[in-house]
Amino acid sequence: MPVAAGRDPRYLSHALAGRNRARSPDPPEATSKTRMARIVMKFGGTSVADLDRIRNVAGRVKREVDAGNQVAVVVSAMAGTTNQLVKWCQDLSPLHDAREYDTVVATGEQVTIGLLAIALQTIGVDARSWQGWQIPIRTDDAHGKARVEEIEGGVLIERMAMGQVPVIAGFQGIGPDNRVTTLGRGGSDLSAVAIAAAVKADRCDIYTDVDGIYTTDPRIVPRARKLPAVAYEEMLELASVGAKVLQTRSVELAMKQRVRVQVLSSFEDKPGESLPGSLVVDEDEIVEQPLVTGVAYSRDEAKVTLRRVPDKPGIAALVFGPLSAANVNVDMIVQNLGADGTTDMTFTVGKADLPRARDVLEKVRAEIGFEAMVTDPEVAKISIVGIGMRSHAGVAATMFKALAEKGINIQVISTSEIKTSVLVGSEYTELAVRALHSAYGLDAEG
Ligand code: ASP
Ligand code: MG
Repeated sequence: MPVAAGRDPRYLSHALAGRNRARSPDPPEATSKTRMARIVMKFGGTSVADLDRIRNVAGRVKREVDAGNQVAVVVSAMAGTTNQLVKWCQDLSPLHDAREYDTVVATGEQVTIGLLAIALQTIGVDARSWQGWQIPIRTDDAHGKARVEEIEGGVLIERMAMGQVPVIAGFQGIGPDNRVTTLGRGGSDLSAVAIAAAVKADRCDIYTDVDGIYTTDPRIVPRARKLPAVAYEEMLELASVGAKVLQTRSVELAMKQRVRVQVLSSFEDKPGESLPGSLVVDEDEIVEQPLVTGVAYSRDEAKVTLRRVPDKPGIAALVFGPLSAANVNVDMIVQNLGADGTTDMTFTVGKADLPRARDVLEKVRAEIGFEAMVTDPEVAKISIVGIGMRSHAGVAATMFKALAEKGINIQVISTSEIKTSVLVGSEYTELAVRALHSAYGLDAEG
């Protein structure tokens, strides 16, 4: 097992908690040119939606193997399968047992690993399927949304060193009770990153139905550009504000474990041609850092305003304490200055949480003593994101000016180190995104 020599094949929970793993001895560039690389390739549901696409995936994998790389593959269920499985559980009983839910929904991935292994063997690639429990991928007991705690990478590393391709079921693991667990919807991205960390892969390639990460949604701005590289932190902000390319938890794990992730398309594929996607990497790896990397938007929030709240100590705790106890996430907050001993307080909650938020606040209304509650679901949050913002002043001012020039009223503003967000009327979403994309010079030439 020459390649594995000196590597610790175990991937432990304390590592998950933030301990840095040892870097592989060769820098990634040297690795890909001078010796084989170890790559985890992940294919989502649309990439394995039917037998033709599974054959196409097998061809992709074969090319990496033929190039001399060690490859492990992680797959999702065929598109639509998991939705169907979830629905069956819900139709039988809305309050179904979470262990049995996992038993049902984990089956989608079992089908695709077997089919892909057969497709690979058919074209002469040595391959073997692996369910989560066979590796094992150990998780906690939070059935339906389990956390990965430990992966035994040793057996996978051994097989890869022998030239065999492990084909691994994403989305699933095994809990402390020895029962199958699943990691939450979209969880096979997380499986892929965790496997990549466990086998100390040089790269984790996530194949999906888009060919990379863009400066904004190309459906809104046709001149959006594909980004060659994005920092982990930027990707986290972009993911949480609406760019739905990678599951958020998988990016968090990649950042902790320093797994280099590449997002690329499994569709635009011409044999012999390699189409680079977007890398999600440490910011040190990004040579040219623009001020603003991307413009994101979200229509998933709703605005709540409490009018004439008494302006005295303890009021914010009275408002936000009960909301948090009811599991309502609050995002943006503004509080105005009051002249008559009262103040208006505005904040946003997830649109789906709005009814619950109203209910909670009505119940504590007398205690807080506000005059009225006004809610508005017709809002959009527009955000500019970029690690370049850390070191530059005036980035937000450009944003406000660009929006003002389009006559767009800003309702709420919030900022973090690498992000500025504004809340606007939802009818301005496209206009605002386009204006900001141009204002920061992100439009492609031509
Ligand atoms: N099949 C699972 C889902 O649809 C996991 C995944 O695709 O990432 O959520
Ligand atoms: Mg996905």
